[in-house]
Amino acid sequence: MTIEEQDRSTQVAASTVTVAVIGLGIMGGPMAANLVKAGYDVIGYNRGRVRVDALVARGGRAARDVASAVAGADVVLTMLPDSPDVEDVVLGRDGVFAHIRPRGLWIDTSTIRPDVAVRLAAAAGERAVRAVDAPVSGGEAGAIDASLSIMVGGAEADVEAARPVLDTVGSTVVHVGPAGSGQTVKAANQLIVAGTIELVAEALVFLDAHGVDAEAAVRVLAGGLAGNRILDRKAAGMIAGEYTPGFRVDLHHKDLGIVTAAAREAGVAIPLGAAVAQLMGALRARGHGSLDHSALRLLVEELSGRTRRT
Ligand code: NAD
Repeated sequence: MTIEEQDRSTQVAASTVTVAVIGLGIMGGPMAANLVKAGYDVIGYNRGRVRVDALVARGGRAARDVASAVAGADVVLTMLPDSPDVEDVVLGRDGVFAHIRPRGLWIDTSTIRPDVAVRLAAAAGERAVRAVDAPVSGGEAGAIDASLSIMVGGAEADVEAARPVLDTVGSTVVHVGPAGSGQTVKAANQLIVAGTIELVAEALVFLDAHGVDAEAAVRVLAGGLAGNRILDRKAAGMIAGEYTPGFRVDLHHKDLGIVTAAAREAGVAIPLGAAVAQLMGALRARGHGSLDHSALRLLVEELSGRTRRT
C-alpha cells in the first residue's frame, strides 16, 4: 500500500502501512505503542537499546539505525528533542531523506524552531519527500491515552495523508496552515503552559504561606474561572513535591528560547513570557533540568525564602 493509494481510500487497513518511528522517549514510546495497537506495522529506532526493546515488547519491530528503520516505511514519524537532533536525523548521510522511498511521507512531531521546520520542509520538497510539521500537546498522559492535541503545518494533501496516523495518536488534529505553522502554534502553546504553571506555582506557595489546605483550594479553584489543565493535571504533584517528568525543564527551556526568539523576530512584546523564560532558565541553572516543568514551584519557594514542606 503506497501513500498515494492510502490517499485514495479512507478505509485503509492500518496493517498494510509501515510506520517508522525515530525517537522512542517519553512521548515517542507511547505514540509508537498506540500505532501498534491500532494495527500499524511499526518499526522503531532510538539511541540505545532499552527504548527499542520496550517497543518490541509491545509488538513493534526493532531497527538498528535510522536508515534501516526508514527503508521500506510508508510513513516516517520523528519525535526527537530539539532542532539539531531533527536536522541530524533527517539530513544526515544515513538519515531519513537519504533512505525514505520516493513520495514517502515524513511527519515531524518534535517541537522545533518554526524556521527550521520551514527549511526542512523545503529540503524535503527538493527530494520529492512529503513533509508535515505536527508538534503535539497533552504531555505523557496524552501520549499514553492517545488524546494529544496536534497542530499541523503543511500542504493540504500531505496533511490529509498524515491524518490517519495523527488521528491514531491524538484526538484533536487541526491543520493550522503551511509548513512551519504547526511549530508556531506549538510555540504559543508553550508560552501559555509555562505562564500558567508559574502562576499555579505562585498560588500554591501563597496558599501554603497562609496555612490554607491546598487540596481543598485547588478543588474549588478548578471549578471557577481560574480552572485550567495545569490545575487539573499538575497541581497534585506540585502539592506533593513530586517532580518526575513528564515534560523536562530542559525541554521547556528550549521551547521558551523558541518563543522569545520568534516573538522578537515578529516585533511582539511578551513581557510575562520573557519573565517565565528567565525563571525556567534559572531553575535549569540550579541543576533541575531533568525535573518536570512543574518544579517551577521549587524556584518560587526559594525566591520566597520558604523551605519545602515534605
Ligand atoms: P525524550 O528525551 O524523552 O525523548 C527523545 C528520545 O529521542 C530519547 O529517547 C533519545 O534517546 C532519542 N534521541 C535523541 N537523539 C536521537 C537520535 N539522533 N537518534 C535516535 N534517537 C534519538 O523527550 P520527549 O519528552 O519524548 O520529547 C520529545 C519531543 O516532544 C521534544 O521536542 C519535546 O519538546 C516534545 N514534547 C514533549 C512533551 C512531554 O510532555 N514530554 C509534550 C509535548 C511535546
